[in-house]
Amino acid sequence: MIIGSHLSIAKGFYKAGQEALDIGANTFQFFTRNPRGGKAKDLDFSDINKLEDLMNENDFGKLLAHGPYTLNMASATEKTREFAKMCFREDLDRLNHIPCDLYNFHPGSHVGQGTDKGIELITDIINSSLREDHNTFVLLEAMSGKGTEIGRSFEELRTIIDEINLKDKVGVCIDTCHIYSAGYDIVNNLEGVLEEFDKTVGISRLMAIHLNDSKMPFNSNKDRHEKIGKGTIGLDAIVNFISNKHIRDLPIFLETPNELAGYKAEIDMLRQLVK
Ligand code: FE
Ligand code: FE
Ligand code: ZN
Repeated sequence: MIIGSHLSIAKGFYKAGQEALDIGANTFQFFTRNPRGGKAKDLDFSDINKLEDLMNENDFGKLLAHGPYTLNMASATEKTREFAKMCFREDLDRLNHIPCDLYNFHPGSHVGQGTDKGIELITDIINSSLREDHNTFVLLEAMSGKGTEIGRSFEELRTIIDEINLKDKVGVCIDTCHIYSAGYDIVNNLEGVLEEFDKTVGISRLMAIHLNDSKMPFNSNKDRHEKIGKGTIGLDAIVNFISNKHIRDLPIFLETPNELAGYKAEIDMLRQLVK
């Protein structure tokens, strides 16, 4: 099982890799820059090389980079869209130099302009930024559907992908908390949900998992992550989810409300329960 958690790279990539090992992980997720936006730090190549060695020595799976929350390609404000475009492009350029093959971001919120307009704005930016020489997969995160969030349904994700020119570079990251909140019943009908995903998006587009329990009820369109087994999804459904043949080989990332010790306990528990 390839499993890790979200970790800070404030003290460098190598430090994050060591922290991953400390908590029993063989991957991790990191923010490409301050999650609320801002300038990315200069790349430290000796630090990156040390991470690469550590990953090779310890059989790490794919790492996942997460774009900042303030990146909203579907904004009604030009300045916000320009910032999103700058971030997205710069993040992908930088990831070409980091041993990380997956870049996840929130598709965006249309802030009242409507889903169609929002999707048009998103795909305009992706198409003008994503280049053939980018070697990182771009993953659209499936969202809970709070407010005017785009990506609340498999159909919306499919519509975005349909409009992207370099489709071979695009995939999806399912967040268990989000899709349960968005009305996909992974507790009682996992097979049905995955079948629907396959029919709508294509299962081969599914490239990473955010594994979270939810504080909110099914279909509430609320985005509140909970510790594994302590929320409305529950431990049995989570174990069943990651044991599924379409999921078990994907890299899995915890974004549960935890410190390192809490992540370690969850990883230990899941490694025991999923054989
Ligand atoms: Fe996210
Ligand atoms: Fe997530
Ligand atoms: Zn979330």
